Amino acid sequence: MSYPPKTLVVDRFSSSCGDCGKSADPSSKGHYVLLGWGPTHGNPGCGVEWENVTTNYAGPSMEEATKNLRPDLNYIREARLLD
Ligand SMILES: [Zn+2]
Repeated sequence: MSYPPKTLVVDRFSSSCGDCGKSADPSSKGHYVLLGWGPTHGNPGCGVEWENVTTNYAGPSMEEATKNLRPDLNYIREARLLD
């Protein structure tokens, strides 16, 4: 699975960085810190500053929620299909 550069991936229960694939804070401007469970929680992220946002969950409600969460980013529909 690959994403366009600088893409924040918002999912139902967690979010991740499209560049490095690691967990991310969906409210942050960029990937500055790793979230999630386990010993890497709180470690530095890859540092990319997101320009795009997408979700792996299809459907209008998740699309709306993602857009509402990050109106500052360019929403990409079904970015997972780009490969
Ligand atoms: Zn990253």
